[in-house]
Amino acid sequence: MNITGRTRLIGLCGDPVEHTLSPLIHNTLSSILNIDAVYVPFHTTKFGLENAVRGAYELNILGLNMTVPHKSHVMDYLCDIDKAALEIGAVNTLVRTDNGYKGYNTDMPGLLREVKSYGIELNNKDIIILGAGGAAKSVAYMCMQESASNIFILNRTLSKATELADYLNDLFGRKCISAMTLEDYKKLDKKKYIVFQSTSIGLHPNDNNAVIMEDDFYGLVDIGIDLIYNPFETAFMKKCHTAGAKAYNGLKMLLYQGIIAYELWNDISISEDIADIVYEKLLKATRNNIILTGFMGCGKTTVGKYISDKYGYTFVDTDELIEKRAGMSISSIFETHGEDYFRQLENDILTELTDKLSNAVISTGGGLPLRDDNKELLCRLGRVIYLDVEAAEVIKRLSGDTTRPLLKGENPDKKIMELINYRKPIYESVADISIQVSGVSVVDIAREIVDGLSKA
Ligand code: NAP
Repeated sequence: MNITGRTRLIGLCGDPVEHTLSPLIHNTLSSILNIDAVYVPFHTTKFGLENAVRGAYELNILGLNMTVPHKSHVMDYLCDIDKAALEIGAVNTLVRTDNGYKGYNTDMPGLLREVKSYGIELNNKDIIILGAGGAAKSVAYMCMQESASNIFILNRTLSKATELADYLNDLFGRKCISAMTLEDYKKLDKKKYIVFQSTSIGLHPNDNNAVIMEDDFYGLVDIGIDLIYNPFETAFMKKCHTAGAKAYNGLKMLLYQGIIAYELWNDISISEDIADIVYEKLLKATRNNIILTGFMGCGKTTVGKYISDKYGYTFVDTDELIEKRAGMSISSIFETHGEDYFRQLENDILTELTDKLSNAVISTGGGLPLRDDNKELLCRLGRVIYLDVEAAEVIKRLSGDTTRPLLKGENPDKKIMELINYRKPIYESVADISIQVSGVSVVDIAREIVDGLSKA
C-alpha cells in the first residue's frame, strides 16, 4: 500500500473493534478499484464518540462506519440522517458533506441485496423473524418496505417484539406485523415461511445452539436466512437443511453493507464481479478452515489430528469420508470402479464440505488438487497448506505399505519420485503456504502452520 499526499482515510468506530472484517472489505475494494484510500479500525468508547466524530471531520476523514455500541448514539453528532436510517434508529455509515457527516444505514439494504442475490422476493410473502433486537428491526423494516404480507416477530422477551411490531405497524400504516413468544410458533398456520434468524444465538463458539431447537418449527421453513456467519453453517441452518429447506448465512449481508458504504463514500457503483472477488476474500478469512495437501505419506493426517487436538479444530479426512460413503476401502474403490470414479467421489465430498464447513482441519487425498475444479473448491474452503516432503522420506515412510493403489506394481520407489515431481508444482499452485516437512517433527510443523497463518 502506497500512502501518498492524497491518500484519504476511512475508518470504523466501535468498542470492541479488534475482530472486524471491514478493513479487509474496504482495503480490497480500494486496491481493486485503484482508489487512493486506506481503511483502519478506531477503538472508540461511548464517552469519546462525539469528539471522535468531530475530530474525524476536522481531519478530513472521508467517511466512517459505526459498530456496537455506537449505531444509535452517533445520530446526535450528524448534520443529516437518511430517512431509512432515521426510521430504523441506527446509523452504521457516515458520509462526508460540506456541513458535517450524513448518516446512513447500509445493514438493511445490504441484507436486501443478499436476499435478492439468491433470487428471493419478499413481496406478498409470509415471514417469520426470530429476535427483536437491533438487527431484527432492520429485517422487519426491510420486509415492510418490500411489502411482505404477514410478518411474525418471535422473541424471548415478548414486550420487545410488541414494541417493535407496534412501531413499524404505525410507521408504515399497515397492521401486518404480529408479536409472539418463541414458543408461539406452534400457533402459526402450518404452511411455509421465509425465516430470518436475527438473534445472537448460535454464534461461534456456541455452534450447536439455535434459538428454537424443536424440529417441528423447521417444518414451517421454506427458506432460512441466518444473519450470523460464524460458523459458516449455523445450527439454525443445519436444522433448516435437515427439514429440506434452503438456508443461507449472513456473510453476504456483511459484504453488501460494506459495498454500499464504499459506494456512498466514493460516489461509484460497484459491479457484482468485484463484489465476488471481495466475497472470496471474506470466505477465506471467516471460515478459518486449514486444508492440508501434499503427497501420500507427507503427514497430513498426523499433523491434522495434532492441530485439531491442540488448537480446538474439528478434524476431517476426505479419504475417510469417501470410504464411509462408498462402504469400501480406497484400494477396493480403485479396483472395483477405477480412478475416475474415485476422483469424482473426492469432488462430491469437497463440494459438500465447501457449502458447510468452518473451524476445521481437513486432510485431503494426495491426488485431490489435480482436478482444476477441486483447486477452486479448495481455495474457497479455507487456507491451503502444502506439506512438501522429499521422495526419499516418502519411500522410507511407505515401505511395506500395500494399501496405496497408485503404488501397486513394479518399482514403487521410481513411481513415487515421478509422481512427486509431477505433482509438486500443482500443490504449490494451490497453496497459501508451503512447508518443508522432511525430518521435521509434528509439533514443529504444526507450529509453523499456525504461525504462518497468523501472518498470512
Ligand atoms: P441485540 O440487539 O443484542 O439482540 C439480540 C437478540 O437475540 C434479541 O432478540 C434477544 O432476545 C435474542 N437473544 C439473546 N440471547 C438469547 C437467548 N439466550 N435466548 C433467546 N433469545 C436470545 O443484537 P443484534 O444487534 O440484533 O444482533 C443479532 C445478531 O445478528 C448478532 O449475532 C449479530 O452478529 C448478527 N448481525 C449480523 C450482521 C451481518 O452483517 N451479517 C449485521 C448485524 C447483526 P431478548 O430481546 O429476549 O433479549
